[in-house]
Amino acid sequence: MKDGVLLSVENLHVRFDTYAGQVHAVNGMTFDVRRGEIFGLVGESGCGKSVTGLAIVGMVPHPGRITAGRILFDGEDLLSKDEEEMQHIRGRRIAMIFQDPSAALNPVFTVGNQITRIIRHHMNLSRRDAYERALSVFEAVGLPDPVRIYRSYPHELSGGMQQRVMIAMALSSGAELLIADEPTTALDVTIQAQILDLLAHLRETQHLSILLITHNLGVVAEICDRVGVAYAGNIVEMGATEVVLNQMKHPYTEGLIAALPSPTRRGQPLQSIEGSVPDGLHLPSGCTFHPRCPHVMDRCRDHTPPRVQFSTPYGDHVVSCHLYAREEAR
Ligand code: SF4
Repeated sequence: MKDGVLLSVENLHVRFDTYAGQVHAVNGMTFDVRRGEIFGLVGESGCGKSVTGLAIVGMVPHPGRITAGRILFDGEDLLSKDEEEMQHIRGRRIAMIFQDPSAALNPVFTVGNQITRIIRHHMNLSRRDAYERALSVFEAVGLPDPVRIYRSYPHELSGGMQQRVMIAMALSSGAELLIADEPTTALDVTIQAQILDLLAHLRETQHLSILLITHNLGVVAEICDRVGVAYAGNIVEMGATEVVLNQMKHPYTEGLIAALPSPTRRGQPLQSIEGSVPDGLHLPSGCTFHPRCPHVMDRCRDHTPPRVQFSTPYGDHVVSCHLYAREEAR
């Protein structure tokens, strides 16, 4: 395990065997999440981000299965664990939150009841101590009046408060890694900013590592230290957020950034990337982005692009593209 790395995903492949054929949802995903960092996994829907998150916690839905790769967490190979061992790791050491907190909370129990059950399941605490711990995590995630929140049913809380409760549940057993899958997408803009501030605060105060899965480059720019840009189940560009967003090299990343609204392009039509993300049933040969790429060359159509690594003052910058195949690492 590399120094300072908490999670290492190496050449991960996930496939769904369906009646229509084999859907290749994740195709060689490779990235690290370092201790105490926020790593953003960004891309359009259908690029394998969420399936990667679910693979890490051992919850790839049927009929999906991991067909190749390794997932190392704190030096341990998660893919060698059985379900009982994964249950211990899930929640206790790795927690996951999703876009819609109301769907994840049980409407018939108070949130206090739900968090206490999680705490007692993972930690050997009395009912009283679990109650005290619940109140202290509610406080840590900025929920006002923790006693009132404890006694509330999910429907009595706003969307932002429900997401704070979900984060509290995720952290209640002392998780070291939080996988947050589109945690702000269902929230309005001001609440989104508050939840992002909270995640950044928890990273500082609890030394939490976060894998943030999002389609939103604005969210990445706001809080991620490093980012991997995913396309068709693989990462095509990765590096420090500063570098990837300001000195991007991959044509797909260029397209994503050009498609963002900008005050400097006021009055001009929004740009878009022609075509759509390929479905996992019919992945293009060679570079999977080639049917949409404005710089496509002959070799892109049938040769997988190499991973080219550049050195920057902010760390390594990795790009998978034939355009850079002959460039010396700088
Ligand atoms: Fe475009 Fe070729 Fe680079 Fe793929 S490898 S992004 S098709 S230039």
